[in-house]
Amino acid sequence: MDYSKFLNNTISSVKPSGIRKFFDIVNEMDDVISLSVGEPDFRTPWHVRQAGIESLKSGKTWYTPNRGYKTLRQEIVLFLQRKYNLTYNPDTEVLVTVGGSEALDVAIRCLANPEDEILIHQPSFVCYEPLTAMTGAKASIINTKAENNFKLTAEELEAAITDKSKILILSYPNNPTGAIMGREDLEKIAEVIKRHDLFVISDEIYSELTYGQTHVSIASLEGMAERTVVINGFSKAYAMTGWRLGYAAGPAPVLEQMTKLHQYCIMSAPTTAQWAAIEALRNGDSDIEEMRSDYEMRRRLVVGKFNAMGLTCFEPKGAFYCFPCIKSTGLKSEEFCTRLLNAKGVAVVPGDAFGDCGEGYVRVSYSYSINHLKEALKRIQEFIEEL
Ligand code: PMP
Repeated sequence: MDYSKFLNNTISSVKPSGIRKFFDIVNEMDDVISLSVGEPDFRTPWHVRQAGIESLKSGKTWYTPNRGYKTLRQEIVLFLQRKYNLTYNPDTEVLVTVGGSEALDVAIRCLANPEDEILIHQPSFVCYEPLTAMTGAKASIINTKAENNFKLTAEELEAAITDKSKILILSYPNNPTGAIMGREDLEKIAEVIKRHDLFVISDEIYSELTYGQTHVSIASLEGMAERTVVINGFSKAYAMTGWRLGYAAGPAPVLEQMTKLHQYCIMSAPTTAQWAAIEALRNGDSDIEEMRSDYEMRRRLVVGKFNAMGLTCFEPKGAFYCFPCIKSTGLKSEEFCTRLLNAKGVAVVPGDAFGDCGEGYVRVSYSYSINHLKEALKRIQEFIEEL
């Protein structure tokens, strides 16, 4: 049967994620040592899991309010205030979603019209471009550069703006590069955004995982809260990927539309996860600290080793990825990854899965135990030497 006539043309034309394709190959092989996964290797802290269990024991198994439990929204507001100096009204400016993923989808759909251009810097997380395409809007790609430590510069942004540009999707701390943007970097971006009257969707899902420098939200800069939707969640900071819980915070008129869409397509985010998240926000600071210091140790090990092997790796200051350059091997990213996998059973992700400008790089996740990392790095070194 020819299903193409039944299927939606826009969705059919979107390419499947490059990361998924690679995972499918990895999953079919035995004894693979993977450095490819984009989630914490830690379990959700026990007291947080317990809060979820307790909620189930006491029979809290119903839908929650569409926006999420009010107590949770209040805790989110307190968290954003105390960590990033952001101020939101829990009743009108916060929406609890199914991961940061849903928040991104809903935000893009509520803001983009087919005639608009959405500015997306790359290398970056894989969903922005397809979600933009699904609205009919045009993705306008900005290639960030290794020599700028993969930061988005005001000049690069300015050069990409046309009279159709409407939204910038800003994604720092960055997956896959580990780059972060400091206050001064963001101030220059904010100036361009305000001058051109643009709006920002700021994906800050890794905001708690920075090393040596605390995260600054672009929404905390003068005049920016009114033109930014902040996306965040529980997956990375609290090792809660499987609970599927995130949120968006931003101006009430935008959040009102996002809530309407969320109401029709989701109803409410997972109930058990919301109880766990309340506990995480109230009593989870020390858990974040412990996990972060572990990541920090692994980061030093991995970055040091890559540079020693001759695969130049700029120092990532956030998330749990590094992005070594493999150009010196003469191989393309995909070829490097496939040959490394076949020869040594080590999986890393081709950099071009995160945008064409990721060619010549690979994404390495260091969200693994030290022993696991050491073994993988030893095998990568052997692979390089044998090339
Ligand atoms: N943004 C970025 C940059 C990510 O890397 C991820 C997950 N890998 C997400 C958003 C989505 O996370 P979640 O839906 O689990 O909150």
